[in-house]
Amino acid sequence: MGWAIALHGGAGVPKNLPPERRKPREEGLRRALEVGVSALKSHASALDAVELVVRELENNPHFNAGKGSVLNSNGSVEMEACIMDGNTKNCGAVSGLSTVVNPVSLARLVMEKTPHIYLGFAGAEAFAREQGVETVDPSHFITKENIERLNHAKDANRVQLDYTPPSQATNEKDTGVPEGDKLGTVGCVAVDSHGNLATATSTGGLVNKMIGRIGDTPIIGAGTYANSFCAISATGVGEEIIRCTVARDVAALMEYTNLSLKDAADQVVKGASEGTTGLVGVSAGGEITMPFNTIGMFRACATEDGVPEVAIWPSL
Ligand code: ASP
Repeated sequence: MGWAIALHGGAGVPKNLPPERRKPREEGLRRALEVGVSALKSHASALDAVELVVRELENNPHFNAGKGSVLNSNGSVEMEACIMDGNTKNCGAVSGLSTVVNPVSLARLVMEKTPHIYLGFAGAEAFAREQGVETVDPSHFITKENIERLNHAKDANRVQLDYTPPSQATNEKDTGVPEGDKLGTVGCVAVDSHGNLATATSTGGLVNKMIGRIGDTPIIGAGTYANSFCAISATGVGEEIIRCTVARDVAALMEYTNLSLKDAADQVVKGASEGTTGLVGVSAGGEITMPFNTIGMFRACATEDGVPEVAIWPSL
């Protein structure tokens, strides 16, 4: 069987994303896809491939994870990440990080080096130091763009998935998600040539979120889930994704009702409120799906025998 990989850089993109905001992200997706493809071609495991891809996206300030993480209501970052191995169902998750350069790799260490699954806040930071992962001063993550995003969210008095200029702040319509310049959570799913599935997701969360807020990303079965049927990474409004147990529902529909990955994912994404949810998924057989009910979703995929794809809006 051939390998397959899919990744996302966040859902909720507006229709009118200007080229200066679109191009660096497309380029970032392309580069991350190359990282994953070359790992899978050189027989890396699916788990290694998804970690490498998410690290690449965490290091890219154009995405809402790692370096580009959006700011909490007090102007600080609290990053979170999750990784899961489909065949063993081993998983690790972290929340509330303010100094760790690559949260996804700390999540993997939680999975591999502790008897636990999920560490948060002071305990997760202490574990990072104990493991000697790369850490930096919290100010490393405070970018000019993210200060602007926070100020705009505060002016509009809301917690938001994306950045909306104040002039459009009262102009939210139909979807319930403000139109603006989306800065996306990142995630990757892969199946390797041995049929092993894995997923990883990483995020700074929502702009202007409350201190201590935890979203769907690190919650196994909500934003991130893999078993021997499929691997899923979701993006969008975390509260809705948690309510709908998005990632686990896709896997459960496949397991209990024999739906294909595509049919299962379509059903789950349709069941979530319009304008809130997107996901990337891959099945043990190498099928890929990338549905969303937002205006767009930064995404990319490749298979051993197919043509690589990078896309934002619905495919024609
Ligand atoms: N799902 C993320 C959260 O709610 C945000 C995103 O996907 O952009 O934390």
